[in-house]
Amino acid sequence: MAPTEPIAYLDNAATTRVRPEAIAAMIPAMEASYANPSGAHALAREARRAVDDARDVLAEALGCGPGDIVFTAGGTEADNLAVFGVHQRHGGVIVCPATEHHAVLHAVEHCGGRVVGVDSMGVVDLDAFSDALDPSVTLVSVMLANNETGVIHDLDQIAAIVRDRAPGALFHTDAVQAFQWVDVAAAAASADMISLSAHKFGGPKGVGVLAVREGVTLAPQLIGGGQERDRRSGTHNTPGIVGMAAAAAATVRTRTRTVLEVGAMRDRLADGLCATIDGAIETAVGGRDDRPAGGDRGNVDRSNKVAGSCHICVDGVESEALLFLLEEERVYASAASSCASGAQDPSHVLAAMGVSRAMARGSLRLSLGYATTEAEIDHALAVVPEAFARLRAFA
Ligand code: PLP
Repeated sequence: MAPTEPIAYLDNAATTRVRPEAIAAMIPAMEASYANPSGAHALAREARRAVDDARDVLAEALGCGPGDIVFTAGGTEADNLAVFGVHQRHGGVIVCPATEHHAVLHAVEHCGGRVVGVDSMGVVDLDAFSDALDPSVTLVSVMLANNETGVIHDLDQIAAIVRDRAPGALFHTDAVQAFQWVDVAAAAASADMISLSAHKFGGPKGVGVLAVREGVTLAPQLIGGGQERDRRSGTHNTPGIVGMAAAAAATVRTRTRTVLEVGAMRDRLADGLCATIDGAIETAVGGRDDRPAGGDRGNVDRSNKVAGSCHICVDGVESEALLFLLEEERVYASAASSCASGAQDPSHVLAAMGVSRAMARGSLRLSLGYATTEAEIDHALAVVPEAFARLRAFA
């Protein structure tokens, strides 16, 4: 048999490989629990049990009650439900940082909300944030981890400012990119609402959760059969929900080890790239970056980022051409976040962090996941610097 050619799938922030546990759970949900979970007969009750078991798993993973879980068709719908649902029910002003995913940012802009700047590390500027809050604010939405840079927000610190400056406001967090790496139940304990998306942690696409804590009221965005206690109508996606719960359980069970193992691979990748690509700047890292010859980078501090995130910027290189060369060598990555057109729009996240247009044009996001292997990192380290060198030779 011919040896298979090495590949490196390093686009896990766009989506992850579906976990075997999720696939194993989804098959019986399609073959046996196929009845409508809202029905009254025995088969319907069996399907409802599968959905409710999944609800219990997700509630525990998010540190909320089973009745707080609202199943959605993914992270975008969960974010939209939080923003539009609060705005339609409570009016007022909605506030978010400039680095939010567009599912929050565009929704907040649509409601005429306030968008707050971030510092050069991509963390919300606490002074500007505090200034943007007043008693007219009904919702604050701050993501737990950023989808481009992996930067993590301290939600407790932010919630304390919200309580002080806008005591009546609800607090939502988009934890879509965090769940694989961070104990969301603990990190988002101060949030009134939490968004999740299954396909970012080994579940299927098109299914997610908005956790809405007891007492929080929202205007539903989908009305009809009154499912999810009237908060989100539509027949339940039983296989998707069951697969998401299996992926969440596997994620929680293995998270500590995954963070250690993947974090070490990410460090090897980031250090290796910065040591071999002239002018490469790692995005949003703290500490000293001495970069002495030989690849030792002093004490670069990545503790503010999720373990799977490696993001660099290089002046004088076009990401689009770079990604083309990488794909030829079976290294699959991205520049900014994925969008429907596949086009590389300039990153609103890097712009908000003050990264120059020239540097942002040469950005590369290599995102590792629970399934990433050392062989993939070896392959990326062999291919990526070479691709940069080829582009530079033509510049
Ligand atoms: N929020 C963040 C931070 C994301 O990274 C994404 C997906 O890229 C979403 C929301 C949207 O999730 P979905 O793809 O499930 O609609």
